[in-house]
Amino acid sequence: MIHRLLIANRGEIALRIIRACRELDIESVVVYSQADAGSAYLDLADEAICIGPAPSAQSYLSIPSIISAAEIANVDAVHPGYGFLAENAHFAEVCRANNIEFVGPDEDTIRRVGDKAEAKSAARAAGIPVVEGSDGPVDSDEDALEIARAIGYPVLIKAVSGGGGRGMRIAHNDISLAAGYQTARAEAETAFGDSTVYIEKYLEDPRHVEIQILGDKQGNVIQLGERDCSVQRRHQKVIEEGPSPGIPNDVRTKMGRAAVKLAKSVGYHGAGTVEFLYENKKFYFIEVNARIQVEHPVTELTTGIDLIKEQIRLASGEPLGRKQQQVKPKGHAIECRINAEDPDRNFAPSPGLITQCVVPGGPGVRVDSHVYAGSRVPPNYDSMIGKLLVWADTRAEAITRMRRALDEYKIEGIKTNISLHRRILRNAYFERGEYTTRFLDELLST
Ligand code: ADP
Repeated sequence: MIHRLLIANRGEIALRIIRACRELDIESVVVYSQADAGSAYLDLADEAICIGPAPSAQSYLSIPSIISAAEIANVDAVHPGYGFLAENAHFAEVCRANNIEFVGPDEDTIRRVGDKAEAKSAARAAGIPVVEGSDGPVDSDEDALEIARAIGYPVLIKAVSGGGGRGMRIAHNDISLAAGYQTARAEAETAFGDSTVYIEKYLEDPRHVEIQILGDKQGNVIQLGERDCSVQRRHQKVIEEGPSPGIPNDVRTKMGRAAVKLAKSVGYHGAGTVEFLYENKKFYFIEVNARIQVEHPVTELTTGIDLIKEQIRLASGEPLGRKQQQVKPKGHAIECRINAEDPDRNFAPSPGLITQCVVPGGPGVRVDSHVYAGSRVPPNYDSMIGKLLVWADTRAEAITRMRRALDEYKIEGIKTNISLHRRILRNAYFERGEYTTRFLDELLST
């Protein structure tokens, strides 16, 4: 059993985990950097420990600082949230070596699926369709060229350790491939400390559809349905919804089965997401996220399952409490990511003091956010300051509800992307569910 848990994260996800712990009667200890000192959510935990200065390398990414905090606080588990150390196999290993349960899969599984090229091999081995491309890392310009010519342009050069939509380069011909290959490697080295890249066919107009899975330590895995995350700006998710308005039922069923099969084949336990691209009636595996995701509440709203509580229960060794047949997603959920960024300045980050904050509410509305009037958004971290979600019986009602909620939302002092969400929610293509990963970039270029 877990009695006391350390949250190795910040902001809205730290608050989300504090809330789950409170309902499970588990004591929570939250760490924070000097930039987050004074944030109101810290008071909601049982204890808060400062782990260092603002730069994440010296705080939220510092394994020694976090492990020291865990030892001082005498916790029996660590929840990594998403981002930061959430998919760091070494961190999971260090936690367990210190007799602290890591809320997530085993380090070997994280290593295996965290490397995108290796995850693709695992999917291929499990008989799951993958996007055509190199069979693993591509180590030279010559190999890159050979593979690109074999699969045909355009191709995508991807960092094996990439994430958050970064570490990707499109190449349309031999010349842009040669340049892109070197740039991608250099960028990957700077951003992820790993210059390894692989190549795959660039699908021109896909949807991004992902399956939420849950697995226990006894080897059982279930899937909780899909989320459509095709509304993206530069390969970063902006809006997510479930179920997907753009895939037929037989694809939904096959994708769900493929996700479970892959998870079982790598001994996955905990919560995870298996991501696919869908184009021309076919789906292709792209990657596994071995952690909780930002958009997990979409699935919480459609299934009624609290994914954070499930993660903690599963980490403590409890078996899945339900069978696949008992999962019956209902209604429709939409999530808008609220970012502190300036739509008029190409979505540049807009940190600073929030002077006014009026949060929407009413039937079917959920806001997961740690900010309020008087809080300061530090410039050091990701610009997401919260998530606005709605649930309704049908997609049409969910859209109407989201428009209403967005109109209620007022954040002043800093710039946010709320106006962009209002625009998308009133777009005819979005309304009809006819959108792909190109939709938003095209909307913004008009
Ligand atoms: P990250 O881990 O950085 O989020 P992903 O592999 O999940 O990277 O890809 C993020 C997004 O990039 C996808 O949702 C999709 O829009 C785009 N993408 C990734 N691979 C391809 C591909 N082969 N063809 C077209 N788009 C792709």
